[in-house]
Amino acid sequence: MKGPHIPGLSKTGTWRNWAASAVSTPNAVAAPRDESEISALLVSASETASSLKVVGGAHSFTPIAATDGMLISLDYFSGIIHVDTLTNRVRFRAGTRLRDIGRLLEPYGLALANMGDIDHQSLAGAINTSTHGTGLAFTGFSGAVTALRIILPSGEVRECSAEQNPGLFQSARVGLGALGVLTEITIQCVPRFKLLAREEPEPLAGMLESFVDRVVLADHLEFYWFPYTETALAKTNTRLPDEARLDPVPWHSRLVNDELMGNTAFAALCQVGAKIPATVAPINKLAARTLAVRTYTDQSERVFVAPRRVRFREMEYSVELAALPLVFAEVRTVLEAYPQKITFPLEVRATAADDTWLGTASGRQSAYIAVHRYAGEPAREFFEAIEKVFIHHGGRPHWGKLHTRGSDYLAGVYPHFNDFLAQRDKADPDGIMLNEHLRYLLGR
Ligand SMILES: Cc1cc2nc3c(=O)[nH]c(=O)nc-3n(C[C@H](O)[C@H](O)[C@H](O)COP(=O)(O)OP(=O)(O)OC[C@H]3O[C@@H](n4cnc5c(N)ncnc54)[C@H](O)[C@@H]3O)c2cc1C
Repeated sequence: MKGPHIPGLSKTGTWRNWAASAVSTPNAVAAPRDESEISALLVSASETASSLKVVGGAHSFTPIAATDGMLISLDYFSGIIHVDTLTNRVRFRAGTRLRDIGRLLEPYGLALANMGDIDHQSLAGAINTSTHGTGLAFTGFSGAVTALRIILPSGEVRECSAEQNPGLFQSARVGLGALGVLTEITIQCVPRFKLLAREEPEPLAGMLESFVDRVVLADHLEFYWFPYTETALAKTNTRLPDEARLDPVPWHSRLVNDELMGNTAFAALCQVGAKIPATVAPINKLAARTLAVRTYTDQSERVFVAPRRVRFREMEYSVELAALPLVFAEVRTVLEAYPQKITFPLEVRATAADDTWLGTASGRQSAYIAVHRYAGEPAREFFEAIEKVFIHHGGRPHWGKLHTRGSDYLAGVYPHFNDFLAQRDKADPDGIMLNEHLRYLLGR
């Protein structure tokens, strides 16, 4: 298929997400350059009752952006529209990739308050799935959204904020791509800052006992646990003023920790582990030992994110922060009893509560546990075994990561689920923004 560049679309016209866990064959694609083009595409899809989906960076693990109808990319909708220097609120075009934001904000002396592990996502993709980082004083991306501009399937443009079209605003802050096409997003930014990072292996037992207290004290704390070991790799980032001296990761440390353990060598180890399961536990012990203690100071956007070149599948749930030690212990028991060996480390993070309707931390301080499986290994049964623990504790699945939950369950863990549905149905009465996955999630 010839045409514009669409993230994830191959030359043969097949669309795949980053993890190749979602595949579809759009019957048409477009990369509109202005809002009138988007309106026309939406009106045409409404008239023909066909589906229209937007893809951001194609980094969701679920088929949330998949369609056999029209697939559009907002890669041309990139950059800053306006900076309010009094409030530090910045209006971005919705397709702006996170990886460009540090450079775009630098001339204004501003930065994003928090980020997740990677920066390939678009801003619209990140907020639509409640993407988050770690830090109990910080929300995920959607909590920092103060205003939005959305084109509805009718072709009409709506500005929304807490004051203007508040119901549409609340639902579109974590909209699952199910309401319309976002074209502009205003984010509450903060003065530029540096991060002092400390990465250090610690006994897992001590980390679990202290995590809930330590995460209150640290600016950004997370840890990785290599299955079958007693070791947690703690990562603590401390915010420093922008005047702080740079002391970036030396190349040899980057080679060992990021390239070898996080990427190139880790891929090789995963392949060995997939073929010879008996090697997984010794490999994980070696990995946990090899990661050296290191500290470094760099610009925030360079510390928050890390390269991820080993392809994997992921499931992540949020639970009440206080429940973390218990939930983690139960997850560990299931994982260690699971008949197949698991190479990938688990990741544990925490965020502040936010006031979005479908944010995974909506109304509660949350801890997150993420489990992964190397892309070359079957994930479904393993994830379902672990998921039972999360369900038992009222966990909320990340909207961009693999899970099995449908509308009945989701309505029980999100107090505003029905408010969201009412707004969605009003915005998109013919369901052109839905696909099979969303119909299952939303019971539509
Ligand atoms: C390697 C890796 C690391 C990750 N790390 C993290 C992490 O640290 N923290 C975390 O929380 N998540 C993480 N994720 C998940 C990821 O952040 C989310 O899945 C995110 O949604 C991906 O953004 P995207 O731009 O690729 O969106 P896509 O996956 O392309 O789309 C996501 C949703 O947004 C919709 N959408 C996109 N643009 C628009 C628009 N303009 N208007 C309306 N709807 C739109 C799509 O239709 C879809 O419903 C990670 C994923 C990967 C693969």
